[in-house]
Amino acid sequence: MDKENIPETADEVAPISFKDLGLDDTILRALDEKGYEKPTPIQVEAIPYLLSGRDLIGGSQTGTGKTAAFALPILSNMDGNQHDPRVLIVEPTRELAQQVIEQLELYGKHRPAKSVLLHGGVGYGKQKDALKSGVDIVVATPGRLLDHISQKTLTLKNVKVLILDEADRMLDMGFMPDVRRILKLCPKKRQSLLFSATIPPEIERLSQSMLRDPVQIKIGGGRKPAETIQHNIYPVDDRQKFDLLVALLEKLDYHSVLIFTRTKVGADTISRWLDETNHGPVGVLHSDRKQKERDKSMADFKSGKIEILVATDIVARGIDISGVSHVINYDIPLHPEDYVHRIGRTGRAERSGDAVTLLTAGEMQYFRAIERFIEQEIPLQKLESFDYNWSPLFAKLGQPKKKKRNRGYVPQSHY
Ligand code: AMP
Repeated sequence: MDKENIPETADEVAPISFKDLGLDDTILRALDEKGYEKPTPIQVEAIPYLLSGRDLIGGSQTGTGKTAAFALPILSNMDGNQHDPRVLIVEPTRELAQQVIEQLELYGKHRPAKSVLLHGGVGYGKQKDALKSGVDIVVATPGRLLDHISQKTLTLKNVKVLILDEADRMLDMGFMPDVRRILKLCPKKRQSLLFSATIPPEIERLSQSMLRDPVQIKIGGGRKPAETIQHNIYPVDDRQKFDLLVALLEKLDYHSVLIFTRTKVGADTISRWLDETNHGPVGVLHSDRKQKERDKSMADFKSGKIEILVATDIVARGIDISGVSHVINYDIPLHPEDYVHRIGRTGRAERSGDAVTLLTAGEMQYFRAIERFIEQEIPLQKLESFDYNWSPLFAKLGQPKKKKRNRGYVPQSHY
């Protein structure tokens, strides 16, 4: 049993077993082999409804066992093989899609259901071959899914269950027109599930057109970061951000650090600078990187081969990397929800983690928005040993104003 993977709120559940929820024996066997002892709260709530065919709208945080909450009843209800897919799971990113298929394969190992993963950035050949030989479950990102449909290598006319995961993320990424096209291509008579951390008006409208009398489930208090996370905010002058990052890395007792930047160029630059200053090997993950590189960075980071991964928000949501010791926001996120998602990569499953954020003078408004969003005041702090340039933010620390030269690393180029 991988105890470290037990989602944070699992212990609050009354002693209800997976068997009590009515799951099929083949699924129970797989769960037993995986070592899951009991269902998490969202699983207890959602599984009976989903087994009975109800629609559902879920606001559950990732890390709560959300994927299994929908994967287990779907697999349990699946019988016999047909050629065209009966279950469609749409994910905003390739990494999330990959993660879902891994869980489906794990829980469905004693079941004859066949799953296929369809995402961009890789060739069509293998995906077409898999579709040709018949599949039960498709897990896909929107663009590649529509490509297959237009090439007539896939039809959605037999879909009985449609799952839209991380819908607000799809909205942010501009996928809503694709999502609406996909909905139109599925039969009207179907079971539909929609998961979204936040419900902006566009998702609200989507849910009204997509769902019939849905059960609403919200677990994990969307805004609340895990209590095991320590928030550390370091004001710094713009020109000293990289120096402070290096000083912090040198001070931190880290074994796996995720560093978030706002832009793809930023992620490339920071990783290159870290390499140049002998902090490598460093992995990079953003949407302009080739799929092979993305897979390799993720695999190397997960296995501990590399200790630092620099990424854009593409990995902030949902990605399940257990044991991240520190999340560093090199650039403060502009949307407070993204702060919660980013730092949610650490402190998972009751492990303690540290979240470090660099804050420059022009970004105070974003910091205040985060404080309001998570309903918590976070004190600003300074790294004792660091030779700071003066920043107006230090006034908020009650520090004397003093100006120092930037003596640190001078990068070859700026981003
Ligand atoms: P998710 O919220 O789907 O990202 O799941 C977070 C992690 O919890 C994944 O690594 C799952 O394998 C794991 N998990 C899901 N359900 C359970 C359970 N009932 N007991 C232990 N671990 C679980």
